[in-house]
Amino acid sequence: MTVFSRLFAALPLPILVAWGALVGACFGSFLSVCIWRIPRGESVVRPRSHCPACGKLIPWYRNFPVVSWLALRGKCADCGARISPRYLLLELLTAALFALVAAKFGYDPPLMLLGWVIVFGLELGTFVDLDWYILPDRVTVGGMVLGVAASAAMPRMHGAYAWHDGLLASAIGLAFGFGLLWLVSVVGKAVYKKEALGFGDVKLMGAVGAFFGWRAVVAVLFLSSLTGSLAGLALMAAGKRGLQGRIPYGPFIALGTLAWLLAGEWMAAWYENLGL
Ligand SMILES: [Zn+2]
Repeated sequence: MTVFSRLFAALPLPILVAWGALVGACFGSFLSVCIWRIPRGESVVRPRSHCPACGKLIPWYRNFPVVSWLALRGKCADCGARISPRYLLLELLTAALFALVAAKFGYDPPLMLLGWVIVFGLELGTFVDLDWYILPDRVTVGGMVLGVAASAAMPRMHGAYAWHDGLLASAIGLAFGFGLLWLVSVVGKAVYKKEALGFGDVKLMGAVGAFFGWRAVVAVLFLSSLTGSLAGLALMAAGKRGLQGRIPYGPFIALGTLAWLLAGEWMAAWYENLGL
């Protein structure tokens, strides 16, 4: 470990959590930009943030995450147009998730950074899927590539020591996740005579396997089917969507993956009991 890693790993938990929350709030702000611009094919860097109502540029001192929205009480400082509370909620959500990742992986800074990247990708996929019914390739294909590369660089992600063992575990996980969901989508199409699963979901599960291995794929498939079905029933009961209505599946894969990232070792204990 480098000197920096040693220093970082020696930080007490409350400081790690506060640091994670701060970084998360900033990335939550960036997340709103990505959710809006990526599906529209716009650059996430330029132009700088501006009010969607009056077009005025937002100066840096009014672009602090969380505090700016609260200080301006959710209104543009120039024209008074309402700024959606979704910005505030995304900043708070990302702050909370980054803090949890810091608390869990702070002893290993490279792993913590990777955890933040995964959380950011899952959030991006979730909210784009909710709005557009698509999962951006940057999340799914990018996740598969990063998952394989990170596994070779940090084989400890898979409990391995040699780079080729990490790479192998990742490749098996990718093939398993991709193959399994592809099979489900083909069977689903044959049975229901309509697209039950999009190809984006297939690629996303490939990325899950690339990062976490085949065991995670099984757990995430189980969790996402369960939460997805419950959400579907709840929406039908509320009369929001009938049987023909579509619910994107990506957010439930993301939810299951988040559970595995933060509590996977508890779920992995099931596998131990089953002798897998
Ligand atoms: Zn304005």
